[in-house]
Amino acid sequence: MALGGRGGPVAPPAHDFPYLRAYSENLRQQVVALMAQEDGLAALLRRKYPQAHTVRTDKALYHYTSALKSRYLRNAEAVNKVVFDSKIHVVRHALGLHTAVSRVQGGRLAAKHEIRIAAMFKQVPEEFLRMIVVHELAHLRERDHNKAFYQLCEHMEPAYHQYELDLRLYLTHLEHAGPRLWQAELAVAE
Ligand SMILES: [Zn+2]
Repeated sequence: MALGGRGGPVAPPAHDFPYLRAYSENLRQQVVALMAQEDGLAALLRRKYPQAHTVRTDKALYHYTSALKSRYLRNAEAVNKVVFDSKIHVVRHALGLHTAVSRVQGGRLAAKHEIRIAAMFKQVPEEFLRMIVVHELAHLRERDHNKAFYQLCEHMEPAYHQYELDLRLYLTHLEHAGPRLWQAELAVAE
């Protein structure tokens, strides 16, 4: 595939892909080729994920998360709070946050778990939201991003790694001044 040189948009250099650092150079080159085409990456994402999810509020997000937890992590500690957080800027790495604040409760130590999801996840396909919620839920069991952690993620969502890659492609698209792809659906639904 030709990289630019056909009068189309000039693709960014491959080293300028902070969201794709964990992937192979070969994959990054494919992204460069896609971005060199008019609407290449955006069209691919829209084709794969035509619709935005309908989880609009913190309350709905809490229910969405609780349903996944009770299905896969019934015995893990309770999640006290789940919110969309507009203060989490999806810069470089933070997509969501899981915090466990220890406090004394009835004479023993209990952790209060909170999950914060970057507000930009209000306007993405359900698959991307599920991926990030599954990720934060897995931290109830595993603090680090180790093998057991990713096994747990895949247990909750078998396509976890595919969705993560596609989400990172979307973030790469946005970082290179691409328009949001699922905003129109949001406007229609509200
Ligand atoms: Zn994590």
